[in-house]
Amino acid sequence: MAPSSDKGKVAAYDPAPRTEHYEFGGGLGALGVTLAVPFFTYWLAFACTADQCPPWPMSKFVAFHSNGLEAMRASAWWESLWSWEAASVYLAWYFWTVACAIGLPGKEIEGVELRNGKKLKYTMNGECLPSCRFPLADSPYCLFPAFSTMMVTLGCIAAWTYKFGPGALLYIPNHWPQLISAALAWSAFLATFVYYQSYIGTQMLALGGNTPNPFYNASLWFIGRGLNPRLGDFDIKAFNEMRPGLILWIVIDLSMVAYQYSTIGRVTDSMILTVAFHSWYVLDAEFNEPAILTTMDITTDGFGFMLSVGDLLWVPFTYSYTAYYLAFHPKDIGLSGCAGVLAVQLVGYWIFRSSNNEKNEFRSGRNPKNLTSMQTERGTRLLTSGWWGMSRHPNYLGDWIMAWAWCLPCGFSTPLPYFYPIYFGILLVHRQTRDDEACAKKYKKDWETYKRLVPWRIIPYVY
Ligand code: NDP
Repeated sequence: MAPSSDKGKVAAYDPAPRTEHYEFGGGLGALGVTLAVPFFTYWLAFACTADQCPPWPMSKFVAFHSNGLEAMRASAWWESLWSWEAASVYLAWYFWTVACAIGLPGKEIEGVELRNGKKLKYTMNGECLPSCRFPLADSPYCLFPAFSTMMVTLGCIAAWTYKFGPGALLYIPNHWPQLISAALAWSAFLATFVYYQSYIGTQMLALGGNTPNPFYNASLWFIGRGLNPRLGDFDIKAFNEMRPGLILWIVIDLSMVAYQYSTIGRVTDSMILTVAFHSWYVLDAEFNEPAILTTMDITTDGFGFMLSVGDLLWVPFTYSYTAYYLAFHPKDIGLSGCAGVLAVQLVGYWIFRSSNNEKNEFRSGRNPKNLTSMQTERGTRLLTSGWWGMSRHPNYLGDWIMAWAWCLPCGFSTPLPYFYPIYFGILLVHRQTRDDEACAKKYKKDWETYKRLVPWRIIPYVY
């Protein structure tokens, strides 16, 4: 484990307390999600190809799928599912990001205090160096995110494309199901590795990671046992959350731009918008990489198949779906269409970024807007005005609005590109419920008082 501060050491510390609450509907829920995530990722890949995409309305959609299933049975589609070459390409990508994480300089940041009173250290190479901040060294705006994995990766892709053309990028759309299989196999391997590693020594387990129920314990392969699995100083969970999958999402998007360009000789306005929005989102996440350290994924959840498949398969291969769709079904939406979509994106981003900034600034001891807050017995204060006075998760609302802006450029001839905001809405409601339960435990009666002051969960006056 990394060197850690001993400040506030907790006297009686149990590294593996009994789990009191089963997440994701227990073992059956875990099994369901384990099967559903890969199935749906493949389904999206096969449902919409260059030759076909299910149309509206739903009756046609069902008929389309019975025909589609027939066609799949008749062809040797399973043969296109696996290739050792694609698996090697995927692993080369993964270990490129590992090499960047280890080799590129970065800033050491302390995580939040753990149950044992210690704090782990993380090297954040997405962190902006003070000399790169604009206009002043303590400004939140990064002029150039020095030495980040993402910048180096994009720089290499730009240089390669400039010298040799976009041909190499076409490998991704041309081997799509095989790359999905490679990412799936690697996330399953990683989950298995950390599962067995969690039994070595006295690793700190996630609170959901230790029950007397054998079926649930077996499903911990999915839910995650170890809270912060590490190899030496290398934090496996934080790395997978931020680097190989999230950056691959943008590389995939660029490959879809290359595909569209290679087939129609230009890039449509809808493709430019969706890729710009995705890149904006990922760059924003990479610029603000240390913010991950206070999220539920890092502080509470164990690292198992749920996170590994989410980070490595689900995010890159399904969040990029609008670019995938537009690569095969190019369309232009014109100036007024672009303006409308941009307006939706800007509103979403404004809510998302300003609400997250309000909380981050407040949590780091600054309150430039003089927002009101309430003292809690736990010691921390809770904001009661500004964005956090309107709902208990205003940042989720902004995030969800942006999700719509990413799909609108795809038009309405098929429902498939809209899977993302629908799925994301369900994820955010589930996440809000989990966070609400966690806060009720942390803050006890103070959380009830806060809920009376801020009754809306995500959307003011609606939900
Ligand atoms: P939040 O950033 O909303 O953090 C929730 C925590 O904030 C609570 O546990 C509590 O922790 C603290 N908090 C709650 N209310 C207040 C208040 N009034 N004042 C001060 N602090 C408060 O949650 P997430 O980690 O879920 O989300 C982070 C971001 O990531 C969001 O913008 C979300 O949209 C995005 N996200 C994106 C996903 C994707 O797939 N694209 C998936 C999940 C999240 P404490 O008091 O202990 O500090």
